[in-house]
Amino acid sequence: MRSDPRKALVVLSGGQDSTTCLYWALDRFGGTAVSAITFDYGQRHRIELDCARRVAERAGIPHACLPIDTFRALGGDALTDDAVAVRDETDADSGLPNTFVPGRNLVFLTFAAAWAWPRGIGNLVTGVAQTDYSGYPDCRESTLASLEQTLRLGMESDVVVHAPLMHLSKKDTVLLAERLGALDAMALTHTCYNGERPPCGHCPACRLRAKGFREAGIADPLCADA
Ligand SMILES: [Zn+2]
Repeated sequence: MRSDPRKALVVLSGGQDSTTCLYWALDRFGGTAVSAITFDYGQRHRIELDCARRVAERAGIPHACLPIDTFRALGGDALTDDAVAVRDETDADSGLPNTFVPGRNLVFLTFAAAWAWPRGIGNLVTGVAQTDYSGYPDCRESTLASLEQTLRLGMESDVVVHAPLMHLSKKDTVLLAERLGALDAMALTHTCYNGERPPCGHCPACRLRAKGFREAGIADPLCADA
């Protein structure tokens, strides 16, 4: 199916990166062409869903929240299983942190493409990045390129998957957010792995976020609000 190359759907988690991507999409495709989708996958931190809704509201774009309750049933990771605490160190067997939710980004983008298909939306935008991160294999450029090809084949579409933060450091992501006028929206975002707001400041996600703002020389509006 031919989709409209002027329309874009942003996978919005309510975090810093996907919010930056939303503003990137607004800048590139224009305000009336952008919509967002959020997945309620049984994440422990329900606050993310509220953040996503508020970010979309502020940006003035249509926003859908879709339920996917299967990840929680799978269990075994720190973001969906209440019995698993977030740990700093990587697992000795997998080499991955226990915040890795297997298949999450693959499923998100597949559902996003399925949402986009009947609506004729030709672009998907995701905040994944392979730099400065925890080494999640579903955030790699090669994974996304392969998935884009699979979506095109599997849905007979010409959808394009954009990952504008793919090669940016956290510092550069903050600078991009500033350039796009997304800093105010950052006060509405959520990053902390411990689900705390104001953020706990010591979990891996908080430390990475703080490092990015510090290196960019910009105060984090989320912490300014706290
Ligand atoms: Zn934290």
